[in-house]
Amino acid sequence: SFCTLLARVCPTRILLHRSMKHLGIFYHPGATAEDRKRATAWAAKASTEVEIVVESSPDKVLGLAEVERERLAFVIAKAGTAGQPPGVAVLASVMAGVGAHIFTILYSHTASPNASWRLDVADQGIHMVTHRDDEIAIAIRRCTSHPVLPERQQAADQHKYACPICGIQNLDAIALWEHMPMFHVAVKKTRRALKCPICNEYDSTIVVHIHDAHAPPGHPEDTSRRGIPLYSFGLVVVRRKSDGKFLVVQEYSSQGYWLPGGGIDAGELPDVAAKRECLEEAGVKVKLTGLLRVEVTPSG
Ligand SMILES: [Zn+2]
Ligand SMILES: [Zn+2]
Repeated sequence: SFCTLLARVCPTRILLHRSMKHLGIFYHPGATAEDRKRATAWAAKASTEVEIVVESSPDKVLGLAEVERERLAFVIAKAGTAGQPPGVAVLASVMAGVGAHIFTILYSHTASPNASWRLDVADQGIHMVTHRDDEIAIAIRRCTSHPVLPERQQAADQHKYACPICGIQNLDAIALWEHMPMFHVAVKKTRRALKCPICNEYDSTIVVHIHDAHAPPGHPEDTSRRGIPLYSFGLVVVRRKSDGKFLVVQEYSSQGYWLPGGGIDAGELPDVAAKRECLEEAGVKVKLTGLLRVEVTPSG
């Protein structure tokens, strides 16, 4: 056939022909045509090179994850109703079998608005709980933005880094900076210091180190833009009108949940800083209604 002929003429064609798209699996025990359409829409919205396969049995998910481990980037699981294998267990078994570098999302309308349920799921190592299609598309885009390369081609580029925690390869500096909180926000201080792939320093809180020391130039979190050391700090109390709930932000290295806030830049007004921090840390646009308190600590 024409293809074999082409392959004989140009052997690299065989390599190119091999699909190197990222792969995602959507585990859904009772998937309908509608659910398959939804998965296709996630991939389209993420606008990266990604293919999503819908599977209805845990065995098939695990089997596919094992076979396609080289290009598998994420698994999304429907929480599951009574009588179905629970999505959390399927996600946990993929991470145990293939590795912690697979991004895991529990897709659930009931777990998503329930904070204690979300914490419970996070304690089992699951990365994200949501029922929102736009959030899933963002997560997919972030964990498929680096190229998939066969193992033998990895680590040839000195500007590509491997994650010191899960070992995922081929991340550029920005992708690594985004990867750390996305995958490893709950990683505790490690007994042994881990080596930073960017500056080669050792740190036992590597997630915090990469976040603080290697923000992309010009990014709001890039500390080098701050002309003077941090002297002012603001915290914001945010209450959602619809249900009276307060906003808290998960801190790095399993330090728990705190009010959103952070350093006020030189020359920045406190109200501007308050709004900026809420957007940066929680993705939430807030309307300020007043000033609760100003505290001053004189230093000698
Ligand atoms: Zn990692
Ligand atoms: Zn470093």
